[in-house]
Amino acid sequence: MESAATLLAELEDRIAHACRVAQRERGDVTLIAVSKTHPADAVERLIEVGCRVFGENRVQEAQAKWPELRERFPGVQLHLVGQLQSNKAEDAVALFDAIHSLDRPSLARSIAQAMQKLGKAVPCFVQVNVGNEEQKGGCAIADLPGLLAEARALEIPLAGLMCVPPFGIEPAPFFAFLDKLSRDNGLEGRSMGMSGDFETAITLGATHIRVGTALFGGRG
Ligand SMILES: *Cc1c(COP(=O)(O)O)cnc(C)c1O
Repeated sequence: MESAATLLAELEDRIAHACRVAQRERGDVTLIAVSKTHPADAVERLIEVGCRVFGENRVQEAQAKWPELRERFPGVQLHLVGQLQSNKAEDAVALFDAIHSLDRPSLARSIAQAMQKLGKAVPCFVQVNVGNEEQKGGCAIADLPGLLAEARALEIPLAGLMCVPPFGIEPAPFFAFLDKLSRDNGLEGRSMGMSGDFETAITLGATHIRVGTALFGGRG
């Protein structure tokens, strides 16, 4: 098993190369190390070699793992990348620095309420179901303008758009589409690209890539 330092260095080489190909600056792409299912000591090893932004996909798992890490490493950021139930919105706002899965008006209202109650503004990415898949999180493409309007009316700080393209087919058209949607709606952030496709995503404008397996190894 390769060390955290080696895995991170290999990943950074690939990110740097993709940035050069796309004529983009490395600093324009935030690496989110997705630590779901991996224990706190694996997170710690990556913090020690320089990772500063992490992602979790479940509020409960993050609540178990992160409070102590947060205390010990105050400079580290934590993003929620997985689906969020409205009844967990307050927990999510309390724990995370960004939410990548805002995908419906009812959730926007719960998040806005939680932010007001806790006096904490958490930037949100609106997740778009770019492949129009039954089972997938993300708002329908047709519903995006209405959801953005609602989020703006609720004064939710909008970081950008997020997508998880359909599994097993070429992701490039979906990344290009999310990039266009972001531009059309005046949004900066594009949260797209995972271990298998982050280079393509960087080429097509990703500002936040969410990488788990390539940094932590398999999830078993
Ligand atoms: C798990 C997960 C990732 C990371 O996936 P890898 O293929 O392990 O890099 C990215 N985004 C979301 C939403 C995830 O749930």
